[in-house]
Amino acid sequence: MTQRRKTRRRPVAKRRVAARPRGDDDATKNCVAPKCGRPLYARELCQTHHRMFLDTGELQPIRPYRPRRTETIKFGGLRLRAEAANHLDELAEQRHQTRTAVMTDVLEAWVRRGYKLDD
Ligand SMILES: [Zn+2]
Repeated sequence: MTQRRKTRRRPVAKRRVAARPRGDDDATKNCVAPKCGRPLYARELCQTHHRMFLDTGELQPIRPYRPRRTETIKFGGLRLRAEAANHLDELAEQRHQTRTAVMTDVLEAWVRRGYKLDD
């Protein structure tokens, strides 16, 4: 019988680990994980790899940041163009719903209709 080791996420520490003060020396160093290069956070790792190491004991490549689009505003945890945000706000007001409820309905309708990003 093969035993699979359960990958259980450790509880996140209640107190955040304070980042080391960055002297001139640290300013030139970056995360030691393969293909990373992000700024150091702790134990020669960036914040994402530090958390990954604590949770899994492994260091996997992380997806690159999506380039920040210009002309977007923060909206319900997303960054949207003002036109889309305004339209969603209007829908929310008409329907007496929250932004989140409207975004949920919009996404679910989009999926039901056979989503394509080109539409
Ligand atoms: Zn890293």
